[in-house]
Amino acid sequence: MPGAERTPLEGGSLHALQAAHRACTRCVGAGLLAAANPVFSGHPGQRILLVGQAPGPVENDGQRPFAGRAGRQLMRWFERGGFAGDADVRRRVYMTSMTTCFPGRTPDGRGDRRPSAREVALCAGWLNGVLALLKPRLVLPIGTLALTRFLPGKGLEAAVGSLFDASGAEAEVGDGAPLLLPLPHPSGQSRWLNESAHIARLERALARLPDLVAWAESG
Ligand code: SF4
Repeated sequence: MPGAERTPLEGGSLHALQAAHRACTRCVGAGLLAAANPVFSGHPGQRILLVGQAPGPVENDGQRPFAGRAGRQLMRWFERGGFAGDADVRRRVYMTSMTTCFPGRTPDGRGDRRPSAREVALCAGWLNGVLALLKPRLVLPIGTLALTRFLPGKGLEAAVGSLFDASGAEAEVGDGAPLLLPLPHPSGQSRWLNESAHIARLERALARLPDLVAWAESG
């Protein structure tokens, strides 16, 4: 499969970054989390980077990103974008998030807590390291928190369905890497997809995926 047999980055430095990331307890030291359990997956040579908000309890328990209900919905989106299923997505896509430890539930227990700005800032170095070492050609920011990181000032309404370059300008397949294809968060907590106009935007984004993935994995 394209992208799977690429040569690891020189010196295995992505592996070194991953080992350090797995041992990270910054948020515990800062009093922001009771325990750290970084969840991400991937390997050198993958050309596509998926960036979500934060792992949930299922991901935390299984140490597997996008493994819960929202993840299954995301995998269905990927299948419509040309992937053969969950295993194929995991083999070809590096998966991480804005913060990589489960932030816990909201005080009312109705959902997962959105990571604080402090947690995002503490975790940013790991994401920046992945961007620098993996050098993905296609970045998929999932949900508003990731959108803020990659396309500041753009909401889902303006971003989903369009393709952007690293400067935030609208782009086409084949323009300079990395290209950014934002997607909404697949969580049932998100109400964004309750509107038909938003579903149409998602459809437009998914329709772009096959060509984009082929381009990303060919470079
Ligand atoms: S969320 Fe990120 S910065 Fe905070 S402890 Fe986990 S890995 Fe470290």
